[in-house]
Amino acid sequence: MKQIMADYYYKLDSATKTYKEKVAWCSSVGPAEILRSLGFHVYFPENHSAMLGASRIATDLIPYANAVGYSPEVCSYLTSDIGAYLKKVTPLSKAYEGIKSIPKPDVLVFNTNQCRDVQDWMRFYAKEFSVPLLGIYTYRNINEIEGIHVKSIAQQIENLIDPLEKISGNSFDKMELKKVLALSRKCSELWKKVLDTASASPSPLTFFDGSIQMGPAVVLRGTQQAVDYYNLLLSELKDRIKNKEGAVVDERFRIYWDGMPIWGRLRAHSELFASRKACVVASTYCNSWIFSDFNENDPFNSMAKAYTALFIVRADEAKEKYLKKMIEFFKVDGIIYHDSKSCSNNTNSRYGMPQRLEEETRLPSLVVNGDLNDLRCLSDEQFKTNIDAFIEQLEGSK
Ligand code: SF4
Repeated sequence: MKQIMADYYYKLDSATKTYKEKVAWCSSVGPAEILRSLGFHVYFPENHSAMLGASRIATDLIPYANAVGYSPEVCSYLTSDIGAYLKKVTPLSKAYEGIKSIPKPDVLVFNTNQCRDVQDWMRFYAKEFSVPLLGIYTYRNINEIEGIHVKSIAQQIENLIDPLEKISGNSFDKMELKKVLALSRKCSELWKKVLDTASASPSPLTFFDGSIQMGPAVVLRGTQQAVDYYNLLLSELKDRIKNKEGAVVDERFRIYWDGMPIWGRLRAHSELFASRKACVVASTYCNSWIFSDFNENDPFNSMAKAYTALFIVRADEAKEKYLKKMIEFFKVDGIIYHDSKSCSNNTNSRYGMPQRLEEETRLPSLVVNGDLNDLRCLSDEQFKTNIDAFIEQLEGSK
């Protein structure tokens, strides 16, 4: 993993320094396959923001973005990333010797399927670097995906090709897109199999492991490297299942996590749950990079469908149906909803969903307050107290 991520960031750095290859920035569930097929190196600012969060420097950087007009209420990925840019700091320099800054974009591409924040975030950088900004404007709160959705998004994806050809200097090659998409599909299938191993008891991995292991599925989908990585990881996890090696020693409780991780507390939370013999087996967050509809024989329509079928894009009715399937598949004892202060898009507890699901499934649930990157929104003491009370409740229902 370390080597793969290092190679990825050094290649981006070299493209920026030598000006020989073009760099495209892309939102995390944006049209990366189109960009790769046109020869761009693809950089995902959200991955950088997660690094800011995990290295616990995000909170101090957010006020710099607030000072130039981005409210503390909006996405703390956006505010910490822009804050880091304004302060000229990046965790990449610490992780990878010789890298001094984030890669410079030749173009920025977003898809509003996840939120509007990605558009505003990239607009900032388009102005800073004086480069083009391209986007896909998607439908939100979809219950059933219909032909009209797919048709419109497919057309928007296709419309990107002309300007991207001009920026990249390369001609679009449908065969190359099919190749990249086939690799993305394989990566997605393997990533799903990796996450699905958590249905075993004891589970060989936790949500906290998944939050780290998903790196290649986010930044390297569409490459052979990602496929090789997940083949290796999957075989290791299968061995663990065979040997009954659980990620949590003496696993007693199985929990589903809905929402974003709290990056600055990933290790602390992993240790807290493990010490209570609770395994957080699965999450909607890690599943966000499963694109089951990719089909290289129908690239535009299948990309449109896959990028629209994501959990975050869907209406509560579709989300609840999905969560019920997950509860059953992963055999969970309870659900934790993370109410992430600065990301309403990845927060599902504000309109009665926990209550509705609890009534239908009889499974206990807990809402925890926090944030993905802004640690001022989290009380560690309160989090621990709430988790302990929840585990006691799960014990009571055993
Ligand atoms: S989905 Fe949430 S965390 Fe992700 S970019 Fe949008 S607002 Fe930020």
